[in-house]
Amino acid sequence: MGPDVPVHFTRFHPDYQLLNLPPTPVATLERAYNMAMSKGMHYPYVGNVAGHPGNHTYCPKCKKVVIERQGFFVTQMNIKNGRCKFCRQKIAGVWASRV
Ligand SMILES: [Zn+2]
Repeated sequence: MGPDVPVHFTRFHPDYQLLNLPPTPVATLERAYNMAMSKGMHYPYVGNVAGHPGNHTYCPKCKKVVIERQGFFVTQMNIKNGRCKFCRQKIAGVWASRV
């Protein structure tokens, strides 16, 4: 695995037969996220925490948001021809030709 492999740290939410367990503390997810970033991972994510900045994809070079998400929706796309719209850094992934 290399630094371009996405890594998701998804919050456990107690439901159904696991109501006795607490949700994952957001601080735990943030610690894992920050650890991944500090080790050079380009695309870590915090999942299942609505509105968290860790839901977005950031350019590994200029650190600007290249894909902004709200829940399951993409609200902003700053990738053009597979590159960051701001600094032209290649963003790992397979992109539709129009983005
Ligand atoms: Zn950039």
